[in-house]
Amino acid sequence: MSIAQDWLGAGGLLSQRLVDFQARDEQLQMAEAVESALADDATLIVEAGTGTGKTFAYLAPALASGKRVLISTGTKALQDQLFRRDLPQLLSGAGVPLQIALLKGRANYLCLYRMDRARSLPAVQGNRALQQAVMAVGVFARHSDDGDLAPLEAQMERHPLLRPHITSTAENCLGSECPVFNDCHVAKARRKAIAAQMVVVNHHVLFSDYVIRQDGFGQLLGSVDAVIIDEAHQLPALAAQFFGIRVSSRQWRELARDSREAAREAGDVPGIEQQAEALEQAPAALDEVFEQLAAQRRSLVQFLALPGAPQALEAVRGQVMALFEALRPLEERNADFAALTARALDQLERLQQILDEPEGEQVRWVEPAERGGSLYATPLSVSEGFRQMVAAYPGAWILTSATLTAGLRFDHFVSQMGLESARTLALGSPFDYAAQARLWIPRDLPQPNDPQHSVQVAQLAASLSGVTEGGVLVLCTSHRALRDISDRLRRQASQRVLRQGDAGKAELLAEFAADGHAILVATQSFWEGVDVRGRALRVVMIDRMPFAPPGDPVADARALALRARGEHPFRAMALPEAILQLRQGAGRLIRDPADRGLLVICDPRLQTQSYGRLVRKSLPPMPECANEAEALAWAQQL
Ligand code: SF4
Repeated sequence: MSIAQDWLGAGGLLSQRLVDFQARDEQLQMAEAVESALADDATLIVEAGTGTGKTFAYLAPALASGKRVLISTGTKALQDQLFRRDLPQLLSGAGVPLQIALLKGRANYLCLYRMDRARSLPAVQGNRALQQAVMAVGVFARHSDDGDLAPLEAQMERHPLLRPHITSTAENCLGSECPVFNDCHVAKARRKAIAAQMVVVNHHVLFSDYVIRQDGFGQLLGSVDAVIIDEAHQLPALAAQFFGIRVSSRQWRELARDSREAAREAGDVPGIEQQAEALEQAPAALDEVFEQLAAQRRSLVQFLALPGAPQALEAVRGQVMALFEALRPLEERNADFAALTARALDQLERLQQILDEPEGEQVRWVEPAERGGSLYATPLSVSEGFRQMVAAYPGAWILTSATLTAGLRFDHFVSQMGLESARTLALGSPFDYAAQARLWIPRDLPQPNDPQHSVQVAQLAASLSGVTEGGVLVLCTSHRALRDISDRLRRQASQRVLRQGDAGKAELLAEFAADGHAILVATQSFWEGVDVRGRALRVVMIDRMPFAPPGDPVADARALALRARGEHPFRAMALPEAILQLRQGAGRLIRDPADRGLLVICDPRLQTQSYGRLVRKSLPPMPECANEAEALAWAQQL
């Protein structure tokens, strides 16, 4: 009998010891595949539908294997859930003592060095609220063993200036040169992680460990026998981010601010202070150019064609160079100036790399932010980079998520990640979709690019919400649609309308779940990670197929590259990517065997275009309502 069967099978270890545990066939199949991949040091890709219990399906064989395992998941919240709820539950059920560790990104740990410096900075002393907040952190520091800032999250939300003063970045950390390195919480957390049998990280930490490889990074992947990546559908976007290069107005301003503060503290280097002040002012002209982009991503070539762009960029580059030249003679003076010199040089090199990068393997693009923006060079494909990452750390690699296939095939994900030789396994959800859910694709809506589309989606949401007495989640594909639909709903619907941005995600979801009759309108981050069980969520409405917006420089460059290889960009990239995102959104509806609901996709193209069939085939097997009357009848009895 397999270990998976022993632990997760009917009558197995967990059935006997955990009150709520129920054996599930899909979970057992996944656990057996994970068990053999761990034994063979193989790469395995598993799609496990909602309700499979995939966390236990990989944790149980990983624990039983006796191997050192790194587990990476998508967000800090999921990381905490895994470490504080799922793992302890499994360990107590199995009665296995094991050293486990949680490792977050450095922005989640108190930096003792920067906190100490912050107390004497004029910027802090001149801001009474900030000064008090820093003092409160000092009290926290005396009692905290691990420096994890989770208990101060609310305080940091109230004082947005606080976090940069009490945490480090890869750029400003002094590493082993730091005078308090022996007490450093970041270093201690890493040492603990390296010594543990099982370490829980998030994908940012995983990629930083591989890409940055400094100050103890790189040791984590090298110290484990197996890597398990949950929420693996996020990997292509994150790999592109980490395998690429970026510089931003924010980084230039932070370099200027830190240099000015170091110069003031030293007291005898007025030249540095002047250069830092000049660099603080320099990005202003560039900010104005970024504003012309009206919140749209553009190619670097388009950006440099805007009036004043080349001159504004050259002015910033010149100021970073001048600051670097001023810092260089002070490099030996102390760790602060050494780190600042290295930072200025790094920023110069990255900017130059982006400007010089030949078109072909990379796409160069810009993205405006609230103030200024960023310049990027992103690889057209991450497949070779990720393949090398896997090859660099031999051992088992297990990638899993509820959404990795499009049209029931792994081809797109597998070729994106360069894992053509991986084992694959697709497991459906154990939920009874035929009894629990219905799909409705209204026929008479305008095309999604028609201005009347949002008007009618809002009307439909208001009338459906009237029938179901709320419990509606409207997922939009753009901020414009989010504003438009939520404004109209606030005028038309009798139920309370919550909108993304009115509060933090966790707070909004808690309000939505507690209300039970609200309408929640959201975009982007709400397409995944929303787990509202029970009657509070009865309808999910999706405004349109989530294709990448036209004119997106990265999508356009990838489409061109595919066409050059003789492939069809829509079929090879745009459609599978939209299907994967649509499946994430649709997955918000049924979260529990007792849930019932209606999924409405407000995109008439699914009725008229041939790809509509592939989209339907990719969704959970729920019956489709033939018309509005059927949909309303189903909605009425929810
Ligand atoms: S080593 Fe880096 S993170 Fe640690 S205390 Fe020093 S500056 Fe802060």
